[in-house]
Amino acid sequence: MLRFLLMAIVSIFILSVFRLIAGAMSKGFSEMVDDEKKPPAGNQGSPGEGPPRSAPAAAGGELKRDPVCGTFIPMSTAVTRTVNGKQVYFCSNVCRDQYLG
Ligand SMILES: [Zn+2]
Repeated sequence: MLRFLLMAIVSIFILSVFRLIAGAMSKGFSEMVDDEKKPPAGNQGSPGEGPPRSAPAAAGGELKRDPVCGTFIPMSTAVTRTVNGKQVYFCSNVCRDQYLG
């Protein structure tokens, strides 16, 4: 009886640990996928500078394409610039500066 109880407790423990690991893994995986979507930002992009990572991609609303590097950025986190009366969206200031020359 005691052994059964012990096994139940252990299996619950293992399950919760597994869930924790799975959660961490899926989070890491989505970040990895996010990274892979970004091509090496031009020739003059320093590795330290990138788009803000705080906001989750889904919460940003509509995705816009960065014309410089091709990255899709949520409108809310994009760096915007009006060019010839048209709103252009960039993933970072680096790409915006590159676009403007
Ligand atoms: Zn970009």
